[in-house]
Amino acid sequence: MSKVYGVIIIGSGPAGYTAALYAARSNLSVLVLQGYQTGGQLMQTSEVENYPGFEEGILGPEMMEKFEKQAQRFGAEMIPEDVIAVDFTSRPFVVTTDSGEYRSRAVVIATGASAKWLGLPSEKRLQGRGVSACATCDGFFFKNKDLVVIGGGDTAMEEATFLTRYANHVTLVHRRDTFRASKIMQDRASKNPKISFLMDAEVTEVLGDDAVTGVRVRNVKTGETLEVPVQGVFLAIGHQPNTDLFKGIINTDDVGYIVPVENTMTNIPGVFAAGDVTDHRYRQAITAAGDGCRAAIDLERWLESQG
Ligand code: FAD
Repeated sequence: MSKVYGVIIIGSGPAGYTAALYAARSNLSVLVLQGYQTGGQLMQTSEVENYPGFEEGILGPEMMEKFEKQAQRFGAEMIPEDVIAVDFTSRPFVVTTDSGEYRSRAVVIATGASAKWLGLPSEKRLQGRGVSACATCDGFFFKNKDLVVIGGGDTAMEEATFLTRYANHVTLVHRRDTFRASKIMQDRASKNPKISFLMDAEVTEVLGDDAVTGVRVRNVKTGETLEVPVQGVFLAIGHQPNTDLFKGIINTDDVGYIVPVENTMTNIPGVFAAGDVTDHRYRQAITAAGDGCRAAIDLERWLESQG
């Protein structure tokens, strides 16, 4: 029979590594199944300037390497593979990757979420060079710039309004003639003199070689195109939590975010969730790390209660 770990952590973003650090320091045997995106979303970014403790800022990948090493220092084992199946019907729990089955007394799900993108090659090429999906993270880099925000829900209104703190002007591009956003958010955005709206419009290309210089926009009703000169493009068309694996097993909301039932514990006792996979609101490294800490403390107490 294979080893039974104290806890298996699925995911290696700030939530997973922080859960691993806390669990390992409380003397549990810890296995982190890191997934193929080892280090999580911050591996896609350059400067992180809002994580406390790094007064000069730090590169995302460098910060995640520090998280990983800190958890390893206390004995957490790491395997950089995706989990392809879970069996939470009996204990110990069984978690499967391509290399085999792993067993544990508790599990933390920290599989994060992925921003939705338009899927344009130009958008992908200019990610981190003016294209972003996080106004809170990157707004500060766009002082006095002209920006486009894409989307029509509350998030788009909120991000457009937030970005006017830095930007010279924000054009909100939406592919329909009405917004999904709540009236209060729409009113706030439309009263803001720095925001204008392009309705019935979709971005067909992000322009620029090494940095964004504009977007090409097509009117979906007339087919007319125009170029809007901007230095930044913010996607606000939603996020997709990485929970397909847990469908029908773990309680989620309609979008797929895990809904814990007691603190960080899910509807399956002994299975906990932390970070962006449970959070459609804050979506920050610091909140994900905080959640990882909460999950580890919750699972330590739960394991103790199991004797
Ligand atoms: P994630 O970081 O999303 O990690 C999820 C992990 O789960 C990954 O390791 C992945 O490999 C793993 N995984 C997924 N599926 C499986 C599976 N089936 N099996 C095993 N593992 C799996 N936040 C800030 O605070 N400051 C910033 O400056 C900032 N900049 C950002 C820039 C960009 C470009 C992006 C995309 C995000 C940025 N964020 C920033 C947000 C921040 O990255 C996230 O809030 C944070 O990473 C969430 O952490 P997490 O641990 O919940 O999940």
